[in-house]
Amino acid sequence: MATSSKSEIRGTTLGASANPDRLRITEIFHSLQGEARTVGFPTVFIRLTGCPLRCGYCDTEYAFYGGQWLSMDDILQRVAKFAPRYVTVTGGEPLAQRPCRELLARLCDQAYQVSLETSGALDISGIDARVSIVMDIKTPSSGEEKKNLYDNIAKLNSKDQIKFVICDRADYEWSRAKLKEYKLDDICELLFSPCHGQLNPTDLADWILQDRLPVRLQIQLHKLLWNDARGH
Ligand code: SF4
Repeated sequence: MATSSKSEIRGTTLGASANPDRLRITEIFHSLQGEARTVGFPTVFIRLTGCPLRCGYCDTEYAFYGGQWLSMDDILQRVAKFAPRYVTVTGGEPLAQRPCRELLARLCDQAYQVSLETSGALDISGIDARVSIVMDIKTPSSGEEKKNLYDNIAKLNSKDQIKFVICDRADYEWSRAKLKEYKLDDICELLFSPCHGQLNPTDLADWILQDRLPVRLQIQLHKLLWNDARGH
């Protein structure tokens, strides 16, 4: 087991949690990573319940409600049964539950390669430095653009990624402008992902090439393989 390094966290220190030992969990499952840097690798996913956003294209609405309260130890035991190399904490919006930061640190302590998928609408301060963050910047078509917390950008580093889900040409041009305004390609890798069923990936590929944008086109592997069936 690796040694915990709680001193190596991003931004401000983590505040006290009302209930630091339990999280509400929608599902824990083993699949292939569908996106981001480790796409295609077998990965255990921990999907936390709840999200304060309502993106128009959301494909995990079943994680808004319900779920099951599990202790931190129970979650770790369930993950360990898969003996994974990669673990992704996702949602919903995982950071909506304060103990999420403690879970991330404890997963890192087990020497898993841990990533966090977050909406970009909640503060990413206090996350263990060993975690690779995949942070959305919400485009206008999401309907949640106003929730973007742009202060988060300064807390990202080269092992993180920023993702734009792009539904149309207007979203593309908006994302391109944000890239330039915040010099995002100097910070970390950028993912431009066509909104499934709304934007032809070939169109997005052509636009990226025409503008020579320093971004990675991302097509969600799990939707190609399993049509986004739950548990994959
Ligand atoms: S942030 Fe993610 S989980 Fe929440 S509504 Fe948007 S797409 Fe759905």
